[in-house]
Amino acid sequence: MTKYIIVAGGVMSGVGKGVTTASIGKILQEHGYRATAIKIDPYLNYDAGTLRPTEHGEVWVTDDGGEIDQDLGTYERFLNADIPKKNNITTGQIYKTVIDKERQGEYLGQTVQFIPHIPDEIKKRIKEASNSYDFVLVEVGGTIGDYENIPFLFAMKSLERDIGKQNLSYVLVTYLPIPSHIEEMKTKPTQQAIRLLSESGIFPDFIICRAKKPLDVVRKQKIETYANIISDHVISEPDIETVYQIPLDLEKEKLGEKLLKEFGMKSKKQPYWGDWKKLVDNILNPAKTVKVAIVGKYIDIGDYNLADSYISINQSLLHAGASLNTGVEINWLDSKSFENNKKSLNELKNYDGIIVPGGFGASGVEGKISAINFARTSKIPYLGLCYGLQLAVIEFARNVCGLKDAHTTEINPKTSAPVIDVQPAQKEILEKSMFGGTMRLGAYAAVLKEKSQILKLYEETGRLKEDEKRISELQKDRSQAFRLGIIDKNKKIVLERHRHRYEVNPKYADLLEKNGIVFSGHYERLDRTKLMEYIELPKNGYFIGTQSHPEFKSRLGNPSPLFWGFVNACRK
Ligand code: GLN
Repeated sequence: MTKYIIVAGGVMSGVGKGVTTASIGKILQEHGYRATAIKIDPYLNYDAGTLRPTEHGEVWVTDDGGEIDQDLGTYERFLNADIPKKNNITTGQIYKTVIDKERQGEYLGQTVQFIPHIPDEIKKRIKEASNSYDFVLVEVGGTIGDYENIPFLFAMKSLERDIGKQNLSYVLVTYLPIPSHIEEMKTKPTQQAIRLLSESGIFPDFIICRAKKPLDVVRKQKIETYANIISDHVISEPDIETVYQIPLDLEKEKLGEKLLKEFGMKSKKQPYWGDWKKLVDNILNPAKTVKVAIVGKYIDIGDYNLADSYISINQSLLHAGASLNTGVEINWLDSKSFENNKKSLNELKNYDGIIVPGGFGASGVEGKISAINFARTSKIPYLGLCYGLQLAVIEFARNVCGLKDAHTTEINPKTSAPVIDVQPAQKEILEKSMFGGTMRLGAYAAVLKEKSQILKLYEETGRLKEDEKRISELQKDRSQAFRLGIIDKNKKIVLERHRHRYEVNPKYADLLEKNGIVFSGHYERLDRTKLMEYIELPKNGYFIGTQSHPEFKSRLGNPSPLFWGFVNACRK
């Protein structure tokens, strides 16, 4: 029987529930169990696709095309697993499903009510996502005491009754502030979180205490008495330099063993942390450091943390660096600054590599194109992600192929040289303004060109082999098989995730190729037209663009091939 671990957060948001949940999952894997994680988001948006990344953080994309809260990304990065969109549950989805069912007469005349129908739907969704896992972690988003997460806590309590307390455990992640004027760690907010949680009939089995410093015996005892749990179950999780230290720290407190004991279970295997420790050590003490510029439009963000809007790119660079024992110093450069002052482009000389990330719309685009031009002509390693590929093609068309007016129809629909154009399937969607969940989303196959630099990177990192397995799984799943397009078994095929509406206009492919761009990978639609997935300029060393977002498939110990190649090029 599947066991459930419910993770809720007290005191305030941003205490690190996501990384704690992911770390617990990783620990259980190391003890020999199959673990997955579910994220509950108490907002009314159906999914994260329409949320502003500069406000809410990056939109994460799953293999099966979900646009999700970034916590799912954290789970994938720790668990080294592809997690499907059903592992994200929002209030919007729950209400919509219940109302749709009511409209379809599925409740057979019942009065449809908050209780029991909403919690029932929540439980149903959780059970659907549980499959054959030994452990399912359920992270309840928001903070205890929020109105929004009451139905979810109610549903957890109800799940406990359905399956029995022996199969479910509660973990409270809380925060202990140290106010600067007294320099003393305070347990009061945690006590109040415990009390608030008890209003839902929930008493934590474990309390994980986030704080600047480790907890001393006195605080542990205070919490132990107040929550009425053994002090062994009050776990300290102090601030650390990299989140990947958290599983190691929690294991120092023997959290894995203690959790298993709570369920009357034992480790199936001796945990092995050697490789993980080595990677963490490389992150903390790299042999060498490279400097990377990420050129994007960073406007109207205020105090918002850019690291969160581009978290997957940062993490991909970190993972690649960890595998290469190289630190990556990331600098965000506002592309707009290059528009008014061309001289400022010289600043780019100080970097070992340049990335142009995904993006939408006209703002800052000319500055990005100038930065790409600088990378190409100065032979600085370049990685273009989605928009970063499209703008590299525009730069090349303008300055190498002589198409001065070259542009994307996203910005200039009347350009005489639409080298980037809307995908045929997207035209009607845009005309009808059906924006939610309608981009080309999720993992699509790309056939890689023999002898290309890109193929070599997928081979060297072992990703080609890994994707072979995934492809045979996709072929069996009829609802997802379309992602493969036309597949020739003898070809080298890889899978990356996507989120875009525009593509390289196939009409210009020949001209671009004649001038030196190599299209080293394509997707073949069922009507046999090709969608260009990768470009490279072999003479330039590392100058690579992809229509995909490989940053969604990077994990510690299993870095993304393109990021790995990029950081490696930056080292040289
Ligand atoms: N705006 C471009 C498109 O829709 C690129 C999107 C992206 O970078 N994710 O095709």
